[in-house]
Amino acid sequence: MDKTILSGNEAFARGAFEAGVKVASAYPGTPSTEILENIAHHYPSIDSSWAPNEKVSLEVTIGASFGGARALCTMKHVGVNVAADPLFTLSYTGVRGGLVLIVADDPELHSSQNEQDSRHYARFAKVPMFEPSDSEEARAFTRLAFEASEQFDTPVMVRSTTRISHSKSIVYPQTPVEGLPEPSLARDPAKLVMLPGNARKRHYFVEERLAKMAEWSCSQSFNRIEEGQGEVGVITAGVAYQYAKEVLPEAHVLKLGLVHPLPKQLIREFAARCKTLYVIEELDPFIEEQVRAMGIEVHGKDLLSVCGELSPGRVAAGLFKEEIPQGFTPTETLPQRPPNMCPGCPHRGVFYQLNRLKAYVTGDIGCYTLGFMPPLSAMDTCVCMGASIGNATGISKVLTPEDRKKVVAVIGDSTFLHTGINGLIDMVYNGSTATVIILDNSTTGMTGRQDHPGTGYSLKGDPSYQVDLEGLCRSVGVKHVYSIDPYGLDETRDLIKREMERPEVSVIITRRACMLHKRDLIQRKPPLFVDADKCTACKACLKLGCPAIKWNPAAGTKGQAEIDKLICVGCEVCMQVCKFGAFGVCDEK
Ligand code: SF4
Ligand code: SF4
Repeated sequence: MDKTILSGNEAFARGAFEAGVKVASAYPGTPSTEILENIAHHYPSIDSSWAPNEKVSLEVTIGASFGGARALCTMKHVGVNVAADPLFTLSYTGVRGGLVLIVADDPELHSSQNEQDSRHYARFAKVPMFEPSDSEEARAFTRLAFEASEQFDTPVMVRSTTRISHSKSIVYPQTPVEGLPEPSLARDPAKLVMLPGNARKRHYFVEERLAKMAEWSCSQSFNRIEEGQGEVGVITAGVAYQYAKEVLPEAHVLKLGLVHPLPKQLIREFAARCKTLYVIEELDPFIEEQVRAMGIEVHGKDLLSVCGELSPGRVAAGLFKEEIPQGFTPTETLPQRPPNMCPGCPHRGVFYQLNRLKAYVTGDIGCYTLGFMPPLSAMDTCVCMGASIGNATGISKVLTPEDRKKVVAVIGDSTFLHTGINGLIDMVYNGSTATVIILDNSTTGMTGRQDHPGTGYSLKGDPSYQVDLEGLCRSVGVKHVYSIDPYGLDETRDLIKREMERPEVSVIITRRACMLHKRDLIQRKPPLFVDADKCTACKACLKLGCPAIKWNPAAGTKGQAEIDKLICVGCEVCMQVCKFGAFGVCDEK
């Protein structure tokens, strides 16, 4: 096939297709989301689906593998925390059909709550991990990972990072594999039923498997030595390989494609020929510490930071204490664009009212985490997916009855179904009194508007069963469940205020679709305008933090609010805030 240009995530999808994957499952998470979306759009022969969370998605693919099919699971780095339970035992059972888990890390925290380095999971769970350095390797390593999975009877992890997933480079697509065995039922309880008696034996197998893979990887082309000149050597992997080549073009390079287990014999041979050895890797000193433990002297994190992404400039600054010119230097200072909810976001009014009610808000992961930003300033905690409800229960336990009334948990519809529901069960079971607000915008907004079990549509866009959130909350024992349109500011405030006073668990579902919803759920209305004769410059509307409302200090005698009609969607929330009736609706013509 002709070469083409693909993003890393498109190339991962291509690799899975070429490998003959039959089942793919994931929960969306930046920067991994587009892998499953690409599979759903371009490779209909693969049964692809969104799972409610990463644990379920891995369990679905484990089942497919046990049935003899090749199966792919993808997630972002923090998703592996959720999926860790099945992952660690899957390492013992091994596979029938090849099983690959692609995990995308997010150095620099472009869209994450932490910067964890997933290579530790590969070592911890004792499974191999490939790490591509560009899109072609993303394709090729994914395909290869399925072969290795079956050859060594192991799940295989493939690590990406934001730069690999979202950058585009040349890919050489290959013909898909043929002749894979048909899936079937095959009983093998000694391998697949992990009771202690079976698991003890499998642990020996796991250790032997790792040793065999380490030896195997010394002779495979994905771990290669690129000869340079002089006595400087670099051991590197992933996107850091690209930076190492740019900063040290003359150096000898040991490029690792398999970052766990390490090819120790190859590393020894390489190190023996270098007087100065660097390990250039992003985030933790994962390779460096293991090389050091082999008794080899290296430089790494003594020169480069464990925090954030690397770049050619950062590598040069660390190694030589000097900056090298970057490829692009802006000629002008670009205007600041602080993160903000969209104009007309259904969450804005809820946070505006939580601020006015002086609630202590335990938050969660989603667009609505932006509720912590001024001027809304209405989020006090945010830990991980689904944590808001448990956090509210815990803090309520240690407060006075009066302070307890202030505690409100906020969580999105997708996040609630991901892992929030467990917290709500605990809340009822253990007699918490906090108020829970489910911000139901009918999508997984932050990752790009994906469907979930509460939207009524599958990954492929087919109609599906829609979870009844009210019924679900009642079924776990919540007696007070309400739903409300959050565009009604006063009604929203009155309901939240009343339920905060209630000495029992209550759930408020604020229901209105995301302004960017991909289906026809949004009714855009004509934009608003500010009547200059009525605006008293009180600045109350600015407390909404709507990007469509600007302050013009030169207007009138004391300045004046103005509406950017290009982005105003006519939600009329600001109109309800203004006590002077200064907002009007533009003529539709
Ligand atoms: S994408 Fe949707 S949920 Fe996210 S800020 Fe915009 S309107 Fe709100
Ligand atoms: S109506 Fe008001 S709050 Fe809504 S988008 Fe326009 S300016 Fe923003």
